[in-house]
Parts: sequence; structure tokens; C-alpha cells
Amino acid sequence: MDRTNLSEIYGKNVFDDHVMRERLPRPVYKQLMRTIHDGLPLEPGIAETIANTMKDWAIERGATHFTHWFQPMTGLTAEKHDSFLSPTSDGRVIMEFSGKELIRGEADGSSFPSGGIRQTFEARGYTVWDCTSPAFLKEDSSGVALCIPTAFYAHTGEALDKKTPLLRSMVAIDKAGVRVLHALGYTDVNKVFATVGAEQEYFLVDKRQYQLRKDLIFTGRTLFGAAPPKGQEMEDHYFGSIKEKIANFMREIDLELWKLGVPSKTKHNEVAPAQHELAPIFAPCNVASDQNQLIMETLQKVANRHDLACLLHEKPFQGINGSGKHDNWSLVTDTGINVFAPGKCPQDNNVFLVFVCAILKAVDTHADLIRLSAASAGNDHRLGGNEAPPAIISVFLGNFLTELITDIARGKKVEKTHADVMDVGVDTMPKLKKETSDRNRTSPFAFTGNKFEFRMFPSSGCISEANVVLNTAMADALLSFAPILEAADDKKAAIREILNDTLKRHGRIIFDGNGYAQEWVDDAEDRQLPNYPTTVDAIPSLLKDKSIALFEKHHVYNHAELQARYEILIEEYCKTLNIEARTMLSMAKTQILPAALKYTTEVARNVSILTQLGNFKISAQSELLVDLTENIEHLKHSIDKLDQNLHEVYHMEEGYERAVKFKDVILANMEILREYADELEMMVDEKVWPIPNYGELLFRV
Ligand code: ADP
Ligand code: MG
Repeated sequence: MDRTNLSEIYGKNVFDDHVMRERLPRPVYKQLMRTIHDGLPLEPGIAETIANTMKDWAIERGATHFTHWFQPMTGLTAEKHDSFLSPTSDGRVIMEFSGKELIRGEADGSSFPSGGIRQTFEARGYTVWDCTSPAFLKEDSSGVALCIPTAFYAHTGEALDKKTPLLRSMVAIDKAGVRVLHALGYTDVNKVFATVGAEQEYFLVDKRQYQLRKDLIFTGRTLFGAAPPKGQEMEDHYFGSIKEKIANFMREIDLELWKLGVPSKTKHNEVAPAQHELAPIFAPCNVASDQNQLIMETLQKVANRHDLACLLHEKPFQGINGSGKHDNWSLVTDTGINVFAPGKCPQDNNVFLVFVCAILKAVDTHADLIRLSAASAGNDHRLGGNEAPPAIISVFLGNFLTELITDIARGKKVEKTHADVMDVGVDTMPKLKKETSDRNRTSPFAFTGNKFEFRMFPSSGCISEANVVLNTAMADALLSFAPILEAADDKKAAIREILNDTLKRHGRIIFDGNGYAQEWVDDAEDRQLPNYPTTVDAIPSLLKDKSIALFEKHHVYNHAELQARYEILIEEYCKTLNIEARTMLSMAKTQILPAALKYTTEVARNVSILTQLGNFKISAQSELLVDLTENIEHLKHSIDKLDQNLHEVYHMEEGYERAVKFKDVILANMEILREYADELEMMVDEKVWPIPNYGELLFRV
């Protein structure tokens, strides 16, 4: 595709700054920008004009409907389409879209998870326009709809979505960041906001094969499947050349995303066979969150057009690397400072030093909440595997920075800067400067040059979850430094003091070693770092006094909202496991067991015929028959056990104990059932095996 083409396509379906400047009356545009950029309340009088302009723009592009687009607690996006049609008294119709319709929608349907905040008898909830994230057109073969990004609250003002708390946390980080920067002498700074770039990993499999697997359809992951003869051990897929079918898919993904103004930038093959990654250019965190939802949606939609199925689950295949979503996070000012850019002389960079201290304090103090933000039933299968960071939170700074801040804290004179040049021993190669930080792929929270990369995050999750915690914890740490910096005449001395204190209290969170090694688990225990291996272990952190105090202080969640979220997390975990267990039972009873019996009958017939004929050796077949029948017995036994336990656990009273039982009993039963089924898969004629195997799923696209 040539250049002109790309610039024509890019943002074509977005009601962005360019369109607004061109189409809105000047005063209206200016007022709206004051809300978008300066955080001032939206002037109600201008909504009518904006709505009208938006409608005309959308209708010119073929739109017939509009929808408030929001992120309920399901983690997915929700939309309810209304047409622009409005009947006139003479029996005709006109196209209408009022300011009121733009600003506020009522989401009827009381069926979104609310954790008890919204009872069905008082089901009123509002979707409210988030003008800081641009409206866009969703365009496909079913038509064109104008989508208005919104937040979703109950009529009492309590958040029912993942976006409201994110917006609140952005207010918190803005206030705290500006205060600290002013104290450091940067009085021209008016705004601080988090930027986020989320790298999305996913798998692509053949759609027909996908459709033959109930587990993929109902749960997003394979619940059965013996290891294929070849997995990822040859390391030949990572960054490998992209197959044409996949390249075509990726090209269409880029086009669709570019039209939506999502700056999809890099794409490559990942470690596992059939695994890929897409990364957009970073954006303010609420925009990045909306864009990531669009990326996930577009991946699935476009895959379908290419006869592929896109798997966003964290662990679609046992024994094969899972998928994450690296949340690259930084803080920048309206004056263009990236607070985590070390610059040429990090030792003299007050902003950098203070903000690094703040992140160390934030991550150490609220490691449990950061861990929880990445917790899901799906991610439990990934974290701690030798492909993904462990469930223990630590921060990687790299040798250079760790030494640097330690030296400053100790009052040692620091002269060395990082301007070393790499020498590869070949004169014709350009000379590159060494980076201040190395790479450490095993760290859950790594400094990567001018940002931090939170690597634990699940591939299917809504990144608001992680960024709410990062923003709020960071705001809190910054606020604790603000008075010290404000009071100090000698800023350098104050910063040294802060560094010293931070390293003393929170230095334990810095870890530059191999996060995948067992020794780290022991070391972390010695450092008294929290380790919550599973979602169920992590959930109670949300209601600790310290967590409630943090979120209430910064007006991100009130107690009732936290309680609701706690209940939703438990409910979601139990529902996920219940669906998985039921899917397994269904597949085991109606597909795997019948196939095993069919093949066993065939072997038995063979033994019987040969015996009747006499004079043939039948020991091989007899042994096979014994193995088969023994395995079938185990399989049947594990089915019955899972069935019975599921019945009991399912009927337990709702609450935390039930989630514990799902984890300890049901998950364990499921693993055993799988083992027998996978063993049978390796014994039974593949022609009678009822579901596509791992080799077919992973290597056929
Ligand atoms: P990596 O460092 O993981 O190899 P990149 O440098 O391409 O890859 O960055 C990965 C993601 O981080 C991209 O989405 C990129 O836009 C984002 N990113 C880069 N700089 C920042 C920043 N200052 N704040 C937030 N995200 C950033
Ligand atoms: Mg990365």
C-alpha cells in the first residue's frame, strides 16, 4: 500500500480532533477542548451542536444507528443500537440525534454483573459520554453505526463498569503528579496523565477445526489434548517469517484498525506455534483502553472473515506458551516531559529520580492489588509457568539504575553516565549507545528505557483494571513525597533523603534476577514479598483495610464499589470454572468415552476373531485391550467424581468458600479427568477420535 493511501485511510472512521476543528463552530470546539484537555466540566449548552455535527458526519458515511459503547464488568464491550430515525407528523421520518442522546443513555437490561449494587428491581443505569475518548464508526457488512464511548453508572452514581474508576484514577494521578512537579520547580505543568501501549498476544486456528471443539467454543481454551510430537522446542516460530494466509489477515487487521484511528504499529509471530502479537502506538490510558477493546474485537471479527478463529484466552493449549498483554505504562505532562525518561544524566534528573522512588513505593506497598489486577481463572494457567512471570510482584530496574540510585542514596558521588558505546567488533556496523536498562523478560514489572512494562496482564483482560491500580498507587506515593519536596529549600538533599528512605523501606521490591527460577520464590519469601499463586488467593486483597483506604482516599472506588467488585471477581471465577467443568463432562461423556468404547470394541473383535481362528498370537491385542479397558475405567471413574463434586460445589452458598472449592476440588478433578482422556487419545485410532488434536490445531493454518 502506498503512503497517500495510508494517510487517507487513517482515522477515516473517527470523529477526531481534525474533524471537530473543521466542522464544529469555533466557540463550541474551543469549549469542548477545554473539557478534553483541561479537564473542565462539559458545558451542557454545547452538546446539542456537537450531537448534530456528529450525526451529519456519521450519516454522510452511511451510518443509520448510534450506540453508547461501554465496558461493563463482563470485561467485554457492550452496545445498544438506536436508529437516528424520528417520525414526523406527516408520516415521514427525519434523522435526529439530540444533545441529550449524546450525553446520556439509559442501559435497560439489568443483566450486567453489578455485585449487588444494582438489584433487578431498581435496574436503572446510565451510560454517560466520555468526550475524552473519540467517537467512531463501526463499519462492516451489517452496516455502519456511530459508537460513542461512555462510562456506565448506577442511578446512585456508583460505577458499574471498568472505565469510570479509570477516569477517576486519572484525576488522582493528575493532581498528585502536578503537585510534585510544581514542588520540583516545573510550575508550567498543568496536567499529568498516564500513557499506555498494550501489546496484544493471540492465537489463530482454523475456523472449521475450532468449530469441532466444544471446549474452544464454550471456554476459549482446550480442556483436552495430548501433546503433539512437535511443540515450540525448535524456537522456530518466534519472529519467524509470516505465512501468507496470516499476513493477509494481519493486513486487513491493520486496515480496519487504522480506519478506527487505532495506530497498530508492530506485528510478529510469537513464541508458540500459531501465536502472534500486535502492538499499537501508546495513547492516554483511557483511549488506550478503548483501543485495546477495539483491537480484540477486530481480531476476532477479521479472523472469522479469513476462516480463522482468534483465541484471546491466556492459555489455549496446555504445554504451549500462553498469551499475555504487556501493559507499557508511563506518565507524561502537558509540557511534554516523560517522567520516566532518564535523560543523559539520570543522576541530575530530579523528576526521574522522584518518580522512580514513587513507583518503587507504589508497587511495593500495593503489590497485592497489582497482582490482583492481573488475576483471572484463565491467567492462573499462565502465571508461574516457565513462559510467564511468576505471581510474585517485583520491579526490574537494571544494573545501571539500581547502582545509580543506591549510590545517590548513600551520598556517593556519581559521575558515570550510560553513554558507553557497544562494540560488536565489526567496524562497518553503526556504533550504538548502550541502553540504561537491559532487557529482563522474566520480570513482571520491568523498566524498559522510558516506561514500565507490566507483563503479568492477561491477554483477554480489560487493561483498565491494571491501570486503575497503577495510577492510584502511584498517586498515593507521589502525594506522600509532595509535602517533603514542597518544604525543602535544598531539593537535591530532599531527593537524596527520599531515595534513601525508599530504598530502605521498599528496596526489597527490586529484583533483577531470573524471575522464572525456583530460587526466586524462596528469595521472595525471605524478603516477605506477597505471593498469591492463584486468583482465589489474590481476591481478598481487594477488601484489606489498606486497599479500601487507598481507593477511598483518591475517590477511585468507595467501599460499596469495592465490595461489589470483590463479589463479581468471585462470581466470575466460579462461573468460569463451572462452565469449564460442564464442558469437560459433556465432551468426556458424549465424545471421548464413546470413541474409546468404539475402538475398544474393534480391538476386542480382533481378539475374538483371532481366538476363534486359533493359532494366532493375540498377546499384543490383548494387552492393548487391557490398557484400553483400564483407562476407560479410570476415565469413567473421573467423570463420575467430577460430576458428583461439581453438583455439590455448584450448590454451595455463594461466596469466597465456594471459589476455594472450585479451585481446590473441581480444578483438581478436571486435571485428573484430562490425564486419562489424553492418554486414551494416544491409544485410540485417530480416525475415530472425535475432536481435532493439538497437531491439527497448531500447525494446520
Ligand atoms: P518493546 O519495548 O516491548 O520491545 P516497544 O518499544 O515497541 O516494544 O513498545 C511496546 C509498547 O510500548 C508499544 O505499544 C509502545 O507504543 C509503548 N510505549 C512506548 N513508549 C511508551 C510510553 N512512553 N508510555 C507508554 N507506552 C509506551
Ligand atoms: Mg514488550
